[in-house]
Amino acid sequence: MKAMYEKALTACRICSSNECEPHLEKSGVQIYQCQSCGVQFWNPEHIEEIEKIYSRDYFVSESAPTGYNNYFSLEQALRKVFRKRLKRMKKMNPGIATCLEVGSGPGFFLDEATRFHIRATGVEVSEFACAWGRNHLNISLIAGKVEDSSLPRDSFDVACMWDVIEHLPNPVSTLRHIRGLLKSGGELWLSTGDAGSLAARLSGKRWHLYTIPEHLFFFNGKSIRKALQLAGFEMRLSFHETVYVPLSYIRERLVKTLNLPLPFLKKSKILIPINLFDVMTVYARKSPAV
Ligand SMILES: [Zn+2]
Repeated sequence: MKAMYEKALTACRICSSNECEPHLEKSGVQIYQCQSCGVQFWNPEHIEEIEKIYSRDYFVSESAPTGYNNYFSLEQALRKVFRKRLKRMKKMNPGIATCLEVGSGPGFFLDEATRFHIRATGVEVSEFACAWGRNHLNISLIAGKVEDSSLPRDSFDVACMWDVIEHLPNPVSTLRHIRGLLKSGGELWLSTGDAGSLAARLSGKRWHLYTIPEHLFFFNGKSIRKALQLAGFEMRLSFHETVYVPLSYIRERLVKTLNLPLPFLKKSKILIPINLFDVMTVYARKSPAV
């Protein structure tokens, strides 16, 4: 990653405060922290270049510097986490009938949602992921950005963004657009890394979610609440959720983050429950007025 990738800092890209300080350097870019809302972020010069990385290589490549060795090896683990989330969503609101997922990847969550009798629609910027989902699963997937979609306003009971908001160039404006697609009293569920967590602070620049260039923002509890509030949501709940990952993926992250040579466990499908208390699951409700 070249420094020319960055542009000069102007203001916080969440709350617009001018009080931003250099926080740490990672992969050749300067990550800043807003002293007002607490969000960490970096400033890519050409955001359109980053949007191009979600090709096949992002999902399936052992040699690409970004993304996953094989996203599809996570399918069983992801589905298990998604079923747990859907149970929770239904318990909180048994009346959920329609769901919008923003950043749905190949559509495992959408597929699980239909088993919970939820009519789910996904929006996904990766043409590759959309094509895979359409070919392999009987789901509704729209390629592109949610802001460019022609989805009808006031039409969804709930929206979800699982590990997506940190990839967005303009999180508040995307959240605001999603708000418009939700019915009155609609709900939003999202997950994202917690840069304020003990694990993140102890790990410093080695934190496994400081992945450049795909992650543009690094939220903590305060800054995600602020982003939601600016977009017209009221954050009701935030917690650190136990998720499941195959042992092979833990190995992959250790290799990519710490450059550890680990020749074993490459194919292990054993699912490990894991909670480093550094990923927030957040529940918010559409506020009556922005
Ligand atoms: Zn800020």
